[in-house]
Amino acid sequence: MSSQVFQKQRRSARHANVAAADADHLLNDLAPSCAGSFAPDLDAQLCACALEKSYQKGPVEIPVLQGVSLTVREGEMVSIIGKSGSGKSTLLHLLATLDAPDAGEIYFDGQRIDNLASAYRDELRNRYLGMIFQFYHLLPELTTLENVLAPLMIQHNVWGFMGRRRQLRESARELLDLVGLSHRLRHKPRELSGGEMQRAAIARALVTGPRLLLADEPTGNLDFGSGREILDLLRRLNAEQNLTIVMVTHDLAIAEQADRSIRLVQGRIEGAA
Ligand code: ADP
Ligand code: MG
Repeated sequence: MSSQVFQKQRRSARHANVAAADADHLLNDLAPSCAGSFAPDLDAQLCACALEKSYQKGPVEIPVLQGVSLTVREGEMVSIIGKSGSGKSTLLHLLATLDAPDAGEIYFDGQRIDNLASAYRDELRNRYLGMIFQFYHLLPELTTLENVLAPLMIQHNVWGFMGRRRQLRESARELLDLVGLSHRLRHKPRELSGGEMQRAAIARALVTGPRLLLADEPTGNLDFGSGREILDLLRRLNAEQNLTIVMVTHDLAIAEQADRSIRLVQGRIEGAA
């Protein structure tokens, strides 16, 4: 596996969307104003500060995150562990800007991202963040290769994609080779094993050259052996590509594979994060 493949993805991702908003103007630069005793670390790749999130269930408000702060440095592999219902997925969705906190702030590369306008948020996710989930979320009608190409179609729009499709298909193939799936390019998801589907989802998450991978229970639906292979792959991507990984799990044995674990208990981080 060559780190050039991944570096190439990152470079081409940088050069994509030339006509779209310039990357330097993607992120706003409001001065940090985080409440509470946790000062945001603007040198960190990812920093969450005093996050609060509740859900409304009829007349009842369910507090899920109650002042969550954490810091993740570039190249770290961090696990977030906690019981089912402790708010792990909610936290990951906030970090991925898929949902907004009720209070608190999130910074990526020192720039505030929790309050971005939706077009910038989409751009941020497409360029810098990758996500994988417990149930893979592959598109069932597309082949493995087409699933991996899908984010590039979004990134380059139809005409841009058509103009570069040979090169983009080659990048997608290289990544599928990297995750050990070059023999399954034309298979549909239903023709793949769970471990293979997760590897396809990892290739899809990486094809735009993200710097941060957010993983929600990535081995939660896999048998022990396949889960171990996915973890080994994530560790390898982290070590060889310097890919920052934040991985949510309820399994202590999996969490221990990371450099550092953060424990979520009833919507709060236990100890310092
Ligand atoms: P975890 O991933 O740690 O299992 P979640 O973040 O999914 O926990 O959920 C935390 C709590 O928030 C749970 O009690 C869950 O029922 C509740 N919850 C999650 N999403 C919603 C929602 N959209 N509406 C109402 N309650 C929700
Ligand atoms: Mg969850």
